[in-house]
Amino acid sequence: MERVTRFAPSPTGHLHLGHAYSALFAEAQGTRFLVRIEDIDTARCRPEFDEAILDDLAWLGLAWETPVRRQSAHMDDYAGALNALAARDLLYPCFCTRKDIQAEITAAGYAPHSPDGPVYPGICRNLSSAERNERLATGAPHALRLKMDKAIAVTATLTWHDAEAGLQQARPEIFGDVVLARKDTPASYHLAVTVDDHLQGVTIVTRGQDLFEASHVHRLLQALLGYEAPAYNHHKLLTDAQGKRFAKRDKAQTLQSLRAAGHTPADVRAMVGWEA
Ligand code: GLU
Repeated sequence: MERVTRFAPSPTGHLHLGHAYSALFAEAQGTRFLVRIEDIDTARCRPEFDEAILDDLAWLGLAWETPVRRQSAHMDDYAGALNALAARDLLYPCFCTRKDIQAEITAAGYAPHSPDGPVYPGICRNLSSAERNERLATGAPHALRLKMDKAIAVTATLTWHDAEAGLQQARPEIFGDVVLARKDTPASYHLAVTVDDHLQGVTIVTRGQDLFEASHVHRLLQALLGYEAPAYNHHKLLTDAQGKRFAKRDKAQTLQSLRAAGHTPADVRAMVGWEA
């Protein structure tokens, strides 16, 4: 059976050893391998990183199908998905700033924590429709949030499967009313990744353990949008000799600097413990 996998980096920095492992892992799981550039965050993404990422992947010996999908070129697809959700009254505009949210949480004295940060305390969910329309009419910047309770109520109990962890019951409620369109760009990570994996026919989503919980939300969005659920394979996160996760700020661990220091692709594969 065809197994379609993808590596989906954000061009906000150079690839490091953790990314090399993730890309090798994705490629090894698939019979077809795709690369997707996740560049909706225009404030943080840079074209030079986009180019350098593809150059590093080719240097590492990976080959992927073309064309490479760049999220910034597909905002219409995300708008279509948002419209479908809005038509079912599953979204609401949120005008809050980070400060507003923090103030509300401080006043309440408590906020449950989600994998994306504190759960949104629901300020804009409770606006009257007159107030909401008035703010929209003034062109106030706003995000779009999912009505999580309603979304869960209209879907049956959902499950998804991870190759390591086995069958999971979806628990999207831990995220609260997630943002699906950001104030600064009309999509969010959760929305874009779900739409893209569907449109690209990805059958196995591979990515690091740090995004394990995100799959709860993605499974819910798949159900709401009528998509088939892919299989999941969340891999371990590589750490350095001190046990710290590799991060973009560790310049010495980027493939660019390892290449400049004379290391070969085989050296890098060995450094990340890649036997295949
Ligand atoms: N773009 C995400 C990242 O760089 C990965 C997205 C995914 O694999 O779902 O962390």
